Amino acid sequence: MIIKPKVRGFICINAHPQGCAANVHEQIAYVKAQGTVAGGPRNVLVLGCSTGYGLSSRIAAAFGSGASTLGVCFEKPPTDAKTASAGYYNTAAFHEEAEAAGLFCQTINGDAFSSQCKEQVIEALKAGMGKVDLIVYSLAAPRRTDPATGETYSSVLKPIGQAYTAKNLNTDTHKIAPVTVEPASAEEIAATVKVMGGEDWELWIAALKQEGLLAEGCKTVAYTYLGDKLTWPIYGHATIGKAKEDLDRAAAAIAQSLAGLKGDARVAVLKAVVTQASSAIPVMPLYLSILFKVMKEQGSHEGCMEQIQRLFTECLYSSAPRLDAVGRLRVDERELDPAVQQRVEVLWEQVDESNLFELTDFAGYNAEFLKLFGFGVSGINYDAETSPLVEYDF
Ligand code: NAD
Repeated sequence: MIIKPKVRGFICINAHPQGCAANVHEQIAYVKAQGTVAGGPRNVLVLGCSTGYGLSSRIAAAFGSGASTLGVCFEKPPTDAKTASAGYYNTAAFHEEAEAAGLFCQTINGDAFSSQCKEQVIEALKAGMGKVDLIVYSLAAPRRTDPATGETYSSVLKPIGQAYTAKNLNTDTHKIAPVTVEPASAEEIAATVKVMGGEDWELWIAALKQEGLLAEGCKTVAYTYLGDKLTWPIYGHATIGKAKEDLDRAAAAIAQSLAGLKGDARVAVLKAVVTQASSAIPVMPLYLSILFKVMKEQGSHEGCMEQIQRLFTECLYSSAPRLDAVGRLRVDERELDPAVQQRVEVLWEQVDESNLFELTDFAGYNAEFLKLFGFGVSGINYDAETSPLVEYDF
């Protein structure tokens, strides 16, 4: 088939196998060029390993430290008539390159929130990699079924307390119009914490510990975003922010449970980037388009791979990690630089449909968005007949 992007609102419903493979290759090349991470991990479990920050974490561990990796993701395989999801192709490409480099890797495609998936991972670790010394928690999911009760919770992206009205960019029509998001109910806030809070992270660590699968000195990290004034009403001080606060609680509890192993649990604060998860958040596409413009002008623009490389070298495996007052690892300092935020705020006030491409890097945002699905990647012939099937099956 000829595979061209099929964008529906903030999501692209297909993906290009060779484009996705080229993206993975690019990230691997970047990590290799940075050299070996001193004291890096050996055996790594990545929950949410197939796209965004989780994929970059897996690449950093494997190609920056020579680590064996076990990944968990929730991705759609291809059929003769339909492409796979991008994360499926990314994972197939990762396997191909890791195996060619002699790096052990294994992936479980299933619902990480379920007890069944945890059992599968435990079995796989016992049969293969053994004890893990780094567990990366990088899930971004719209819903979660609590394994204890069977109840399913859905997360919402809503403000707390009062409605929030802000400029919003329709990425399809390029129209900018105010959007009003009504405040979340108490039930919606609690459900979002159930899905994106720390409970499942704690369940994972407890299950691995119980099976003796945590190495002495093991580390675990879960990812969060804090942002600044412009995004607080819809992120930091909103339902998702409440869920992320729960990660801080979980990190402290997990760290305590790892004390006997001399282990550590941390929340890492990462910058805003284009991923399938972030493009669904109202306000984010416009914020990111402006942020890209400002940070590219400053020479401080970063994507997932650059952020995770710095997380490994400047925080996780550094003798002087950058910590904030509550003990979180910080790699978002360039985004939160007051000069950057002030410039973003000025442009935010000025931007409208007539100057969108001039005042913002919407073109860059859009290219990054399509690239997530393997489109617009140089060197790929998008007019060529392409099979959606990939050799590797996991
Ligand atoms: P993403 O959508 O690119 O990746 C999500 C990953 O989770 C994928 O690998 C997907 O397969 C997996 N997944 C989803 N549901 C699953 C399930 N039920 N079982 C197993 N795997 C499942 O998201 P992302 O933006 O990379 O987000 C990862 C983490 O980073 C999140 O905690 C997010 O809040 C955080 N973060 C994101 C940003 C950003 O700007 N994107 C910034 C800071 C922090």
